This record gives sequence, C-alpha cells and structure tokens, in this order.
Amino acid sequence: MRSSLTRLWLVASCLLIPLTNCSKEPANSAADARYKTVATVGMIADVVRQIAGDKTEVEGLIGEGVDPHLYKPTGSDVKKLQAADIVFYNGLMLEGKMGDVLVRVASSGKPVHAVTERILESKDFVMSTEENHYDPHVWMDVAGWIKASSVIGDSLAKYDPANANYYKDRTSQYIDQLNKLDEYARVSIASIPEGKRVLVTAHDAFSYLGRAYGIEVRGIQGLSTESEAGLKDINQLVDFLVENKIPAVFVESSVSQKNIKALIEGARANGHEVKIGGELFSDAMGPTGSYEGTYIGMIDHNVTTITRALGGDAPAGGLNGKLSN
Ligand code: ZN
Repeated sequence: MRSSLTRLWLVASCLLIPLTNCSKEPANSAADARYKTVATVGMIADVVRQIAGDKTEVEGLIGEGVDPHLYKPTGSDVKKLQAADIVFYNGLMLEGKMGDVLVRVASSGKPVHAVTERILESKDFVMSTEENHYDPHVWMDVAGWIKASSVIGDSLAKYDPANANYYKDRTSQYIDQLNKLDEYARVSIASIPEGKRVLVTAHDAFSYLGRAYGIEVRGIQGLSTESEAGLKDINQLVDFLVENKIPAVFVESSVSQKNIKALIEGARANGHEVKIGGELFSDAMGPTGSYEGTYIGMIDHNVTTITRALGGDAPAGGLNGKLSN
C-alpha cells in the first residue's frame, strides 16, 4: 500500500520537475554538470564538501543555530530531497521528524545513507541515553566523525565510480586532518587541572566528548527552575561547583540562560565566582563561510573554549590559528 502510493507520488513529482532531476545516474553529459548532494545537518554537508570538492553541489537543510531534534522538514526541503542524486543524514534518531520523508525518498531507489551506519555496527562505540535511546551526538568524538567520513567517502565513490580514486584520496587527506584534531582535543583537555575537568552545560550533547577526551559532563537539561525538583538539582550542582571550585559553566545557543544564571548566582551566594566560559556549538555549526562554520572549526572552537575557560593550555587561535574570538 505504502510503496504503491510512494511510486505514484514519485511519478507525479517527476512530471512536475525537469526530467534530469529524476535521473539516478550522475549527470556527466556536460563537463560542468555536477550531481546534487543533500545533507540534513551542517556537520555532514561540510564533510561532503571536503571530500567531494567540486564534483558535487552540496546543500545542507538544517541551518546554523537550528535544533535538529525538533526540526520539521518544509515543503521546500522535500523538493530538495526529491531532486537530490544522493542524500546523507546522521541517523540514530537525530533527525526525528524527518524519518518518514527520508524513508520515502530512499524507497525510490535513490542512495540515502546514514553516516552513522558503521558506528552502529561497532556496538561498543555508540552510547545510549537514560531513556534507552541511542545518543546521536557522535560528532563530538572526532573518532566518530572519522567513521562517518569513511561512510561518506565510500558512498560517493560507489555513486560516482569514475572518480572513485579522487574521493578515496581526499577522504584519507581529510581523515589525516581529523586525526590531528582528535590529538589536539586529547592534549588540550588533558592540560586542564584534573579536579577542574568538568563540563557543565544545559543540553546533553557532550557525552561522547566526555568519554573520548576524559572530562566529566554534567548537564542541566530537563531541569525547571519552577519545580521543586529542578531547584533541588540546581542546588546540588551549585554545591558541586563550589566544593570543586569549578571556574566556568557553558552556554549553547539553545540553552536556557535562566538555569545557567541560577547556577552562577547560587555559587556566588556561597562565595564562589563561576563565569560563563563561552558559547559552545552543540548540534549546529557556526556561521556559513567562517572557520567555525566547518566541522573542524566547530570542534576546535569547543575544545579551545572549554580548555581555556577551565584553566588548561590551548592557543587562543586554536589548532589551526583560525578561531575568531
Ligand atoms: Zn542535541
């Protein structure tokens, strides 16, 4: 039932848009014809750009500062997915509200890949949340994004075999850069004095970072300052900050400043000054066209900001000297 409806839907849509968009083969009739790649989040779109270079035209659907967990695909997103030659998404339920559309697009026979498919195969890598869902934030551990990059490289080579060696070379060059980033993260976080290696944020996106680089992660997500339980939990976190003299807590663009301010005020009332250590990129990257608008720049920003705010050693410009402060 569903598949015949899907087929009808596809036939109808193919009549409405130029026929070339319905082709499943790479457009190679003209030298400058590039195939179209659509990615859900910016972290994936960036890796496709790094690996595919000018071979493809890449479009990311979910923009800067937008929460992918709650993102609902628009009509224009559906058209872009239909018109794409190849599609990449994170998976592990990150794009919760896009699932149906992605299934529909994949059922047309178009290559649609979850970049976390290899992470899921190696069961010991993937983390779970308390509600027993997989934690989708695998890009926070660079080793996770290395696995994702290899899925992207191999999928592009399979789709466009004439350029397979090109993708293979660029994937390994990019992974070399990611290995440097991974090492930088490890060394930087390890330079934070041991008792201060605690990352306090409002959203639970940082568990993979904590596990990979040895920093305890404490989130206040789910707490409400209006409820008794919320107040109790915030007070416990305040006690923890004061007792351990943790110098900084961190905000994200999606964070409730109210809870963070309650933490800071609570610590101050107990004679301990906590500052906001900076804004971290959790589920979206920085502005398009900036260094922070790339995956490497995003992680470099997070690691450098956390390290410096908690008393560790990291250059202000980060791994590549490119961070704007
Ligand atoms: Zn998230």
